[in-house]
Amino acid sequence: MDANSADELTETLIAADIAPTLASDIVSKLRASSDPESELKKILLAHTSKLVPPSLAHRSLGEGGSIIRHPSSILIVGVNGAGKTTTIGKLADQWKSVIIGACDTFRAAANQQLDIWAKRAGAEIIHGTEPAAVAYKTIETMGDRTAILDTAGRLGNNESLMAELSKVVRVIKKLDPDAPNETWLVLDGTTGQNALEQIEAFNKAVPLTGLIITKMDSSSKGGFLITYAAQTKNPLPVRYIGYGEKIDDLHPFSPNEYIDKIFA
Ligand code: GDP
Ligand code: MG
Repeated sequence: MDANSADELTETLIAADIAPTLASDIVSKLRASSDPESELKKILLAHTSKLVPPSLAHRSLGEGGSIIRHPSSILIVGVNGAGKTTTIGKLADQWKSVIIGACDTFRAAANQQLDIWAKRAGAEIIHGTEPAAVAYKTIETMGDRTAILDTAGRLGNNESLMAELSKVVRVIKKLDPDAPNETWLVLDGTTGQNALEQIEAFNKAVPLTGLIITKMDSSSKGGFLITYAAQTKNPLPVRYIGYGEKIDDLHPFSPNEYIDKIFA
């Protein structure tokens, strides 16, 4: 690769939200390669493969091919507009036998899309006026179903909102000490390196067990995940990727599909 194409490639990687130092590291490894394109893909795959959940790596899928085993309780967190509510509608459709706790009590009533998708999936939605109370009622009512708790957008630096999230967890643990079985952070794929700060901030308030990246259809971004994988010793697994606004646009994480999308 000549100097010009090396510079060009570095710029492409940075534009895809890969951290500049990592981008130049990667490109310097490719300089001597006779087939830089496939070598690049190999390097990116090596990084992102670290993010595949163990259950997927071993292909031990749950009932109906889903990656969840009913009954489970799953807390969904993330900043405003990340795609939490939309993602929950898609999950309800895929998993079936789901009960949703609308703990985002400000916007719960207004979310017609969630209502439509939940109805289609036959999922019950628990509404209420106080987040922790809604969460409690959902876990109390779930029975054999999987409970998904939707929450309000939280800014990582807003302490009172983070405290509310901790309260949700504290309250449901009175019913089930293992709840929530999973806590997944939803990240907007176009957020860039700021996503890494969000992971840290949310992880402090509620220990995370997985990530979901949305809006991977909207631009060639999402490289922050490669930075995250490269610089983190035990990164959180990526559970799902959102590739659009339609109900079928949520796919279990596949490094191949993800990388192809970044450079599409
Ligand atoms: P919340 O505030 O985290 O609950 O976010 P919402 O679920 O309300 O989503 C915010 C916006 O992002 C909505 O307009 C969604 O349709 C949109 N959205 C969510 N996921 C995706 C995705 O994978 N691709 C695209 N293009 N839009 C998405
Ligand atoms: Mg929402």
